[in-house]
This record gives sequence, structure tokens and C-alpha cells, in this order.
Amino acid sequence: MRTISSLLWVFGLALGLSIGLLLSLHPALFSQDESWPLFVWPVSGTSTPDLPQSSAYGPRLRASCGRCYDFHQGIDIPTPISTTLRAVLTGTVRIAGSHPLYSDGIVQLDHGNKLYTNYIHVAASLVVTGQVVAPGEPVALSGVGDNGFPHLHFETRQGSVLRQDAVNSYRYLPYTDTLRHTLAITEVLEAGAVWLRVTTPGDELDLNAITLTVRSAITGGLLAETGLDYEAHNKKYLGDPAQIDIPDLDGVLIQPLVYATNTPVYVVDFFFHNLPGLGAVHIDACALDVNANTACDTAVGVFGRQLFLPQITQSNP
Ligand SMILES: [Zn+2]
Repeated sequence: MRTISSLLWVFGLALGLSIGLLLSLHPALFSQDESWPLFVWPVSGTSTPDLPQSSAYGPRLRASCGRCYDFHQGIDIPTPISTTLRAVLTGTVRIAGSHPLYSDGIVQLDHGNKLYTNYIHVAASLVVTGQVVAPGEPVALSGVGDNGFPHLHFETRQGSVLRQDAVNSYRYLPYTDTLRHTLAITEVLEAGAVWLRVTTPGDELDLNAITLTVRSAITGGLLAETGLDYEAHNKKYLGDPAQIDIPDLDGVLIQPLVYATNTPVYVVDFFFHNLPGLGAVHIDACALDVNANTACDTAVGVFGRQLFLPQITQSNP
């Protein structure tokens, strides 16, 4: 009996592990935060991604302000004017068409537990405040953004309705994570700085964070552990939305390249500077998507800022 129950236990454990492994191989079945069911996409109302998308969550150059730097809190889906937009999850309509805090037409759904979705630039609301909607149910007709470009700006906010709680919608939207984002260390400068180039395919805009580690190449000792998390970056700007346009935050200069529907990859360059260390250094950098899958690169270089004081050169004619 004891042997049989042990065998059953081992079998159960093996079954559990197999199911766990199976589920881990299919991240698209669950949202990143597994307490939530996945959305459907807001245009199709299905689990097939709405494509193309013209702007990712995160840093970008915004067309409507002469390519100024902007931290984009949603995703943009180009849509002909008056396209039907659909509820992504069961919810209650909180805003139906307009709100003083939003300059453009908006439908906002409350999904409970402090999860909200925003449909912005809408031409018309198809729902009323307090109405309960099911996934895929029409909620609005699409309109035109402030740059004259017909599209849906779709946002997910978690924690509150405030803009600093806008999170990466790819956490909840269903897609097959094919791990095609890339990271390359493009330059290590003696002034204690590193350039990175990160790319994300245009049909899988799920990039979420960058990590950077600097170690002594001689001793292996840790010199710096830094990075940039898009959602944490978004949270730092409390109050004045205009301040979201600061390109250099905590020693990281963010330089997005122009991205549009016809660009195959979304490219962002990151310049980490003021890094500590002197002498030979080993750099490790990774780009993480919303499922915490990494694309990494390593490089060695020499930090020698004391050799590069321009004043010394100039004072010795
Ligand atoms: Zn947008």
C-alpha cells in the first residue's frame, strides 16, 4: 500500500511538473499577471493580435510634436475612422465618450480589482456609464488622433485610473511570444558609458525592461547594477504630464528611433553614463519582454575617465 501510494505520489508529482512545463511553454495562455484572464484584442475582439501597430508602450518619437521624445503609455492601432472597437474583458463602463481629464474622445472600462482600460481618440461611444460589457462587445467607434492619424490609442492601467499606473498592455493582450527582440552593446566608452541598441519586431511590441551590470574584468567584483524598467519609469512622473518628455533619467539617455506601421522593427538606443569603475570592465546587458524572456549581450572595455580630462590637455600648450 505504502509503495502504491508512493508511486501515486511520484506519478502525481511528475504529472504536475509536466503540466507546469507545458504551461511554461505556452505563456500566451495566461496574462503576465496570472491572476487575470487574457484580454481579447480591442479591434478584432479575438485572441489574434490587431496588426499593424504603429506605436509601442514605452519611449518613442511622437509624430504630432515634430518628433519630440515621448513616453507612450499605450499602444496605437491604426484603424479606418468609425471602426468598431470592442471590450477586451468583462467590465463596467466608467467613462462613455468624454471626460474633463481627457482632451479626446474616450471610453474607459473598469474590470474590477483596480484594472482599467482606455480607448482613446474615439469618434463615438456605443455604451453608457454603468453598463456592463462582455469581451468582444462593441463599445466605441474609432476616430482620429491629434496628429490627424486615424487610430485607436489603447491603454491598460493597473492600480488606479491615473496615468502613472499605465502598464504595458502586452501583459494582458494575447499573443505568441516568439522571443524575437534583440539587444546589442554597440559601444563601451572609456568615460564610463555604454551604448545599447534594443529592437523589438513590429508585430510583437512586448519589450519591457533593460538591465545592465558592470564588473571588474580582473577581479569579477560588481561595480554597477542598473537598468530601466518601462513601467517603473512611467511611475516616476507624478503630476505634470509634460515632464514625461525628459529624455535623460537617472543616468540613462533614451533615444528612440522613428517608428511607424511600415517599419519592421522598433529600435531604441540607450546610453548609460556615469558608470563607476576604472580599468578593464566586463559589461552584461539584457532586454526583457513582459514575460521576462531575455535577449542579452556582453562586452569588455576599459573605463579610464581620469585619462580623459580635457582640462589637462588644454592647460599644456
Ligand atoms: Zn497613442
